[in-house]
Amino acid sequence: MTKWVYSFGDGHAEGAADLKDLLGGKGANLAEMSNLGLPVPPGFTITTELCTAYYAADHTYPDELAAQVDAALQQIEDTAGAKFGDPANPLLVSVRSGARASMPGMMDTVLNLGLNDITVEGLASLSGDARFAYDSYRRFIQMYSDVVLDVDHYLFEDLLDQHKDVAGLTLDTDLGVDDWKELVGQFKALVQTELGRSFPTDPAEQLWGAVGAVFGSWRNNRANTYRRLHNIPEEWGTAVNIQAMVFGNMGDDSATGVTFTRNPTTGENVIYGEYLINAQGEDVVAGIRTPQHLSKSARVEAGDDLPSMEEVLPETYAELSTIMHDLEAHYRDMQDIEFTVQSGKLWMLQTRSGKRTAPAALKIAVDMANEGVIDRDEALLRIDAESLDQLLHPTLDPQAPKKVLTTGLPASPGAASGIVVFDADEAERASHDGHSVILVRIETSPEDIHGMHASKGILTCRGGMTSHAAVVARGMGRPCVSGAGSLSIDYAARTLKIGSTTIKGGDTITIDGSTGEVMLGTVKTIDPKMSEDFNTLMEWADATRRMIVRTNAETPADARTAREYGAQGIGLCRTEHMFFESDRISAVREMILAENEADRRKALAKILPMQRQDFVELFGIMQGLPVTIRLLDPPLHEFLPKSEEELAETAKQAGVSVATIRNRANELHEFNPMLGHRGCRLGISYPEIYEMQAQAIFEATVAVKEATGETVVPEIMIPLVGSRRELDILKARIDGVATDLGIAPDSGAYIVGTMIELPRAALMAGDIAETAEFFSFGTNDLTQTTFGLSRDDSASFLEDYIRHGIFTRDPFVTIDREGVGELMKMAVERGRSVRKNLKLGICGEHGGDPDSIQFCEDIGLDYVSCSPYRVPIARLAAAQAVINNRDDR
Ligand code: PEP
Ligand code: MG
Repeated sequence: MTKWVYSFGDGHAEGAADLKDLLGGKGANLAEMSNLGLPVPPGFTITTELCTAYYAADHTYPDELAAQVDAALQQIEDTAGAKFGDPANPLLVSVRSGARASMPGMMDTVLNLGLNDITVEGLASLSGDARFAYDSYRRFIQMYSDVVLDVDHYLFEDLLDQHKDVAGLTLDTDLGVDDWKELVGQFKALVQTELGRSFPTDPAEQLWGAVGAVFGSWRNNRANTYRRLHNIPEEWGTAVNIQAMVFGNMGDDSATGVTFTRNPTTGENVIYGEYLINAQGEDVVAGIRTPQHLSKSARVEAGDDLPSMEEVLPETYAELSTIMHDLEAHYRDMQDIEFTVQSGKLWMLQTRSGKRTAPAALKIAVDMANEGVIDRDEALLRIDAESLDQLLHPTLDPQAPKKVLTTGLPASPGAASGIVVFDADEAERASHDGHSVILVRIETSPEDIHGMHASKGILTCRGGMTSHAAVVARGMGRPCVSGAGSLSIDYAARTLKIGSTTIKGGDTITIDGSTGEVMLGTVKTIDPKMSEDFNTLMEWADATRRMIVRTNAETPADARTAREYGAQGIGLCRTEHMFFESDRISAVREMILAENEADRRKALAKILPMQRQDFVELFGIMQGLPVTIRLLDPPLHEFLPKSEEELAETAKQAGVSVATIRNRANELHEFNPMLGHRGCRLGISYPEIYEMQAQAIFEATVAVKEATGETVVPEIMIPLVGSRRELDILKARIDGVATDLGIAPDSGAYIVGTMIELPRAALMAGDIAETAEFFSFGTNDLTQTTFGLSRDDSASFLEDYIRHGIFTRDPFVTIDREGVGELMKMAVERGRSVRKNLKLGICGEHGGDPDSIQFCEDIGLDYVSCSPYRVPIARLAAAQAVINNRDDR
């Protein structure tokens, strides 16, 4: 026979903490506390399996359940020395849901169950307080009607308010026993009117009603939404906990409270809690009365006059402190605890691992490892790598009020406020004039880089997590919300519409790139602080991880930031980003629009010294660490002059007519630039471009050697390769340049490799590895080309795909292991089978995503490369990946 019911209390339990899946978080911990001999009011848990069975059997219970519940109830009665429905000594119970994962607010609690017109009198004489008994009774009718009978809560509140008005009373505490008695009558009449039947008086009927409501609530709209948002599978089900009531509102030696074993905001190892004398738990939550500090030191520090529990109930406080200490030691984690004191006796109602801020999580993990409570591996696993982001960027002050207008994709973390500006040049001007600026664009292009740089944050209505705006903003460490589809931007009118709100250029908004929220006005932010604990944790991560962590960087500022965050080299220098610098864009345009090789070489000669200087700086900052330089990649149209002004400027530079330039620009137009003349295809058509870049690289290595004595072994990377032949042709060109400069090819002075960012490259990896000395997975393009899904357009229907369960996560954020991942695995195997020491890395945005980093560890990559601000996340995630793969985990 299946066991559906697990009892606990009185120093032992049928369950335990490790039965969380079956008993839910709350039930498992109540059992565990009972087993530890702690004072837990007796009770029982109906399992999550029953919930699943209930739905499978069309909302009916298995036959044997009633008998098991009866037996468990009997046990509570025996332990509590009270009886369900007994007129003189009634047992009252609470009924609460409790899923495996905490789902706050999914279902309200029912307290005081078991009260009716007869038992309320029993409670009155037992407690010697008729007012308390009738107050409890009306609370029960109100809660039960709301949760189980579906009669709206506010109808009862209305009656209460009317009564207070008529009687001239203000506070609930002003009401006496007769007031509550009268209200109980009114409440019952209300139920009769609303439902056409009377409020249930039989405690057993009340109990089954509440149990049914909890199981029913598992599939209500609120719970369904919560589960979807938090990836909680429906088949998990919820448990139901039924437990003898204890009362914190039985007089001045009764109390109720909530406490953390450490400060959940800072992580400091001090008791952090609140309590209220003569109150029920809901009074603490409802904020009707101001809770008081638990410990005297916290009260003194806060300068509070209301006495602490330590002062009012010293013995109970001492007992509670010991229990808190023991619970934390037992669970080896900071605990969030609920307790009640009934007539001087302490009862433990709940314990669970406490939620905490990112800085607190860090401090608690490092402290606990230093205290010997957990080992370093455990400390590393305790930190959500993604949450380190919060430590590196300004975040919204959680206390600050905010009005969210819309939510887009959380493309680059951090929060920023500023005036709305619609154009990159204007952003630069406004920032120069001392304004904080949020650049708002339909989408961004490389031409906007200077404006993005000048802005505090970037907001776009198109583009996904690897769109230009997202990638560049992450690299620069600028907060960015992308793909906020409900924005409508009118560049001409300089307005931004979100729903019914119209925002004009110059108005202030705030964006939170960690959540995707867009808010009106300024919302207060908190600056990040890098603590000693952060450095300690990073040291532990570095000692554990196998993979190297490099960065994607092309500007000296980014490279320096990345070094500060611990990057061990550059895994991707996107040279095209260097071409947009204002001092060279004209020469670049001239080069692109040149009609023949001679003209192209003329323009390239102007770019060469600037490009050489770029590399000298990067090599200098990287001090001998490896640097992978990718030769020109993007579709040419990105460089084409668009405005009349740009056309004229380029024509002047090139010494030709505007009409000639315009014609040539039209010739270069492509229908599908992402799949057009880009990547190595440019090198094949115009080898002189790649030759100029190779020359700049080699000359820079020589210059750095001369200046600093540092030997740089540049890694020259060819983008968008699909066949070995492309690579052979281009490598021969690069070798030619090296030879001309007196550097012997294949001497180890430089290496040439390729991006793997097309499915064909993955398929042909064995062949390509004959030539390539390294592979770097360009998973942005590889995801785009494997799915046939534009990285710049996917945001518009991503939500639909997630809602329908086609994607569980955005594949441009987390590697699609089954598809894209399979291609990567194949490329690793085929590549290494030909070239054993083939160096393997990743430089797509996935290189900074913890889940994808785990995958990179699994398939044996040598390094991951990510934007500078994600380097600490990658260091930690790479360590966690190693720990997760240990046999004993
Ligand atoms: C990639 O495609 O993953 C990549 C790193 O290159 P880019 O994002 O510059 O196309
Ligand atoms: Mg690419």
